[in-house]
Amino acid sequence: MKIIAATSNKGKVREIKSIFSDMDIVSMREAGIDIEIEENGESFLENALIKARVIANLCDCAVLSDDSGLCVDALDGAPGIYSARYAGENATDEERYQKLLKVLENETNRNAHFTSAVALILPDGRELTALGYVDGKIGYEPLGENGFGYDPIFICDELGKTFAQATDDEKNSISHRKRALEQVYRKLMLEVGE
Ligand code: IMP
Repeated sequence: MKIIAATSNKGKVREIKSIFSDMDIVSMREAGIDIEIEENGESFLENALIKARVIANLCDCAVLSDDSGLCVDALDGAPGIYSARYAGENATDEERYQKLLKVLENETNRNAHFTSAVALILPDGRELTALGYVDGKIGYEPLGENGFGYDPIFICDELGKTFAQATDDEKNSISHRKRALEQVYRKLMLEVGE
């Protein structure tokens, strides 16, 4: 089955390919689709569906999308769906996590989790969705050089170190995105038969 991955992030396309290994995963660029989609939903799932539906209307094959972010307990789940824009539209990853460290300066509750929502729309319009989570704590300083986004300040409970201190394989084996992608893959197998 040909599936267009509705993301321009090469790392995400790699993760999708490793889980949907028996499918023909095509990036938006490879599919010749170059559009900006406004993510104006009120949840990760709404945003993932918005992206997938827009692309699904432009082609006749299956479309897979994800939306993800960091949710901090002491901030009632913020930055959440606003993770990418937390320090303004053109801010860097470092500016975003430094802002979060500052906001949490005097906070002792450091509990947080990453969430990923994945949506797969099949050519006949069926929509398969799933949410994946990974728990951790927000550190007091950035540690590690790997990964992206908030990885340097997210101390993963299961790994006992920040995502930026983990190798790609370590992170991708337990990540929120992997967990959501795997559930959607299982749902796809149930729909189309193994
Ligand atoms: P999006 O799903 O590409 O819209 O990502 C939203 C934002 O959430 C990213 O820009 C990152 O700041 C953050 N984010 C999502 N997943 C991760 C992750 O695995 N590590 C670090 N930051 C992440």
